[in-house]
Amino acid sequence: MPNHLSRREFLKDMGLLGVGVGAGVAAPLGAVEAFGEDWNDKITLIDRPWWVKEVDQPTTEINWEGMQRFNERNTARRGFPKYVGDDEVKRLSDMQAANVKKFVAENKPGYSLRDMALYNADSMVPGTTFLPPAEGILTPEDRGVSRWEGTPEENSTMIRAAMRSFGAATVGFVELYPETTEKLIYSIDPDGKELVFTDDEQPSETETSRFIPRKARWVIVWTVQMSQETLTRAPTPLGAMTTAMAYDRNNFITHRLQSFLKGIGYIGLGEQGINALGIAPAFGAMAGLGEVGRINRLITPEYGPMVRVFKMVTDLPLAPTKPIDAGILNFCKACKTCAEYCPSGALSFDTEPSWDVKGDWNNPGHKAWFENSIACRSYWYEVGTNCGICFSVCPFSQKDKAFIHQMVQATVATTPLFNGFFTDMSRLSYLSKPAGEPQKDTEEWWNLDLPEMGFETSRGHKDV
Ligand code: SF4
Ligand code: SF4
Repeated sequence: MPNHLSRREFLKDMGLLGVGVGAGVAAPLGAVEAFGEDWNDKITLIDRPWWVKEVDQPTTEINWEGMQRFNERNTARRGFPKYVGDDEVKRLSDMQAANVKKFVAENKPGYSLRDMALYNADSMVPGTTFLPPAEGILTPEDRGVSRWEGTPEENSTMIRAAMRSFGAATVGFVELYPETTEKLIYSIDPDGKELVFTDDEQPSETETSRFIPRKARWVIVWTVQMSQETLTRAPTPLGAMTTAMAYDRNNFITHRLQSFLKGIGYIGLGEQGINALGIAPAFGAMAGLGEVGRINRLITPEYGPMVRVFKMVTDLPLAPTKPIDAGILNFCKACKTCAEYCPSGALSFDTEPSWDVKGDWNNPGHKAWFENSIACRSYWYEVGTNCGICFSVCPFSQKDKAFIHQMVQATVATTPLFNGFFTDMSRLSYLSKPAGEPQKDTEEWWNLDLPEMGFETSRGHKDV
């Protein structure tokens, strides 16, 4: 969210707007002039606070004639040995290693095992893997200390903090039980390897199978945001870009989490590739990150369906989070917007969800609006990319933090009475193009000044 005041907002806050013409006008102008004569300069490209002005030269004085191109190897970072000598570098390095070891052993604030594991968590590996990295991560054993021990509640809080800093949007936890939630782990992974629960102490992987020790009974589930502003350009490659980026960013998050867990002395078993390990919307719903809506995907209260959902199995004891009812599934009964705007007819128009699956691509055992995934996928070929129209037209995607939107969501969560009305309002307010077309202009996107990654990272969170 832009963190600045416009000139108008500033004047309004100062009580200087709306004072009328005549004598009152002198006051606002006088106040504005106090900030310099160029206050009204037009600033292009970067949306800056109004008191930032463009100037011809940087505030640092420069003498171009006295300047040469610089050899990077002369920086202190690279050239340090040259400046202090190898012996001094060795002395300092030994001191650093001894200090860090001592600080970790002493549990010095900011140097605890988990602080160090967070700092050293590695993310420079392409793709994701089931097993954690074999090398390159210092374990508690390597550091000569005991592994991290916390209560399940402390562990869940710690993981949430780590995951938010790695880039996850929301984080929840599911405990695995053979009769229930274990069934949400795939029997076969996307690459054909069988996922097998074992009584082994350590996880392993062969040519044909991946082995999950039963002591690893907790699943960390998280969402990664997509850009609503970008996906509203679906079905186009431009719209699909934000989906691809969410997977890319998750590679980073997964590696960080896996190596963090290893760094504090626990196992983290990740997704071998896209959509591996377990059923994402199901884990999302069980962890309370959202509800499964008519699109048969997770819809979150904070970001609607504008997320991808990921998971990791661990032996770190975690306090599970509970499923939620934010009125989303109930809202879907009246809404049906996604079904109406879906160009392939893949989505159900039934008012109630059903136990009956549409094909082998659905997993029976839960009541849902099962989709015709073959029609959906076939349409993707037609447009040359993935689609996502159903995500972009969903009222829960609308990125409105205004009180009225919060009020609507609170009402939806409380009573279904107004769901039909809210559906109509949402279509009138947000949907401008016919079914099957991008709701927003693709050329216009290139002129937007979007937040980093194209979405707000503070949405739905209080401690920012
Ligand atoms: S992705 Fe597109 S084709 Fe597939 S269900 Fe959604 S709207 Fe329909
Ligand atoms: S568009 Fe409407 S029916 Fe479809 S998932 Fe969103 S809220 Fe539910």
